[in-house]
Amino acid sequence: MTNILTPDNKIITPQNGLLTPDAIKQANDFAPLAGYVHTWESKQFLKIKQKTIALFFGNQRGKGAMTIMGYIHRIMGSHPIAERNINYFKCYNGHTFSPSEWLDGFEPRYKDGLCPKCAKPNRKEVRLNQRGNKIIRFAGDILPESEKDEVGKGTKEVKSIQYLEFMKWCPPFLIKKLPTSRKKQIELWDPYGGEDIIFEFVSYKMPVESTRGHQRISIWADELGSEGFYDEQRPRLMIENGDFLITYTVTEDTKSTVLFDQIFDRAQVYYRSQFMLDEYYKKVLGEDKARIEQTNSPYSIAVIQSASDDNPVLTTEQVVEYLMEYPDPEVQMMRRFCIFQQLSSKIFPQFRWDTHSIDLEKEFKARMGVTC
Ligand SMILES: [Zn+2]
Repeated sequence: MTNILTPDNKIITPQNGLLTPDAIKQANDFAPLAGYVHTWESKQFLKIKQKTIALFFGNQRGKGAMTIMGYIHRIMGSHPIAERNINYFKCYNGHTFSPSEWLDGFEPRYKDGLCPKCAKPNRKEVRLNQRGNKIIRFAGDILPESEKDEVGKGTKEVKSIQYLEFMKWCPPFLIKKLPTSRKKQIELWDPYGGEDIIFEFVSYKMPVESTRGHQRISIWADELGSEGFYDEQRPRLMIENGDFLITYTVTEDTKSTVLFDQIFDRAQVYYRSQFMLDEYYKKVLGEDKARIEQTNSPYSIAVIQSASDDNPVLTTEQVVEYLMEYPDPEVQMMRRFCIFQQLSSKIFPQFRWDTHSIDLEKEFKARMGVTC
C-alpha cells in the first residue's frame, strides 16, 4: 500500500530566472514543513505542557507526521513552548524564550540582553540554556535497516516508519550523517551551532536493559512497547526535564493493556477532535464529551484523540475504502477511532473495587442459603 500519511509537497523549479539557485534550494528545503496541513489537534499538540503526550489516533490519521512536525520546530527554534526547543533562552528568574522569540535571525532582539518579562528594577540577564546533551530517542518495532525475514526466505525490506517520516519532513540541509549498520542514529547540524543534534533509534526487540543509561531530552515511542519499556524510559528524561511522546493506534491483535492502564486512563487532560465527539462519543456511545476535558489526575499526561477521518489530506471515501479491508465492524471502529473499548470488555484493564470485588459476608450468606 502506498503511504498516504502525508501529501507530496510542491518543489520549486527555476521558472523566469527570478529566483537564485540558493533561494530555490532554501525554499525547497522547507517545502515539506511549510506544506504540513495544520488542524485543531495539531495546533493543540504544539501547546501542550504535560510531560507525556499520547496521540491515540485512528489508522492513517498521521500521528507520525504530527510528531515529526513538532520535532522540526524544536530544531528550528520555532516551537511555541520555549523549553521544548533544543536551544532556548532563560533568565535567572525562570522566564524562558524560544529562539524565534529571543532572536532576530541569529542576533539578539533585545540589545541590552535583559529579560523583558522581569520586573523593571530587577531585570536579569537572559542566557542560552545549557543542555547536558542534544539526544532524542526514537523507539519502535524496527530499526532503520532491512532485517532478516523470520521465515528464512532471504531478506525483506522492512523500514522504520519513524525514520521514513523523519526523512520526509526534515529540511535536507540539516542532515549531517544518516544511520549506518553500526550506528542507528541520524546526526543533524544544529542551526544555532554547538554540538550536533542526535536522533537515536532503539527497538522494542532490544532488551530493555540496553536502553538504560544516558539522559535524553525527548523520547518518542511509536506503537506498542513492552510493559517494562515505559517504566524504563521515564528516568531517562528527569535531568533534562524532557518529555515523552507516545503514538498509537489500537489494533485487533493488541493483547497488552499497558497503554490504556498507564497512559489513557491516567490523563490529566483529553483533547478530542470534533469528529471523535460527533461520530464516536455522541453517535456510538450516546455521550456528550467536551473537546478539552480536564481531570484531577496527578499524572502529567495529555491525550489527543483523533480519527482517521481527521486527516486533512484524506477524503471520507478514502477512509471508508481503507476500512473495507477489515470486514469486522468492531475492528473498523477500533481502527478508525483508536478506541480501547473492545479490549476493556474482554479483559479487565485495571482493577476497580466496584466491579472486581465482592461483598464477602453477603456472598457467604447467599451461598449458605441465608439471605441478608
Ligand atoms: Zn525574567
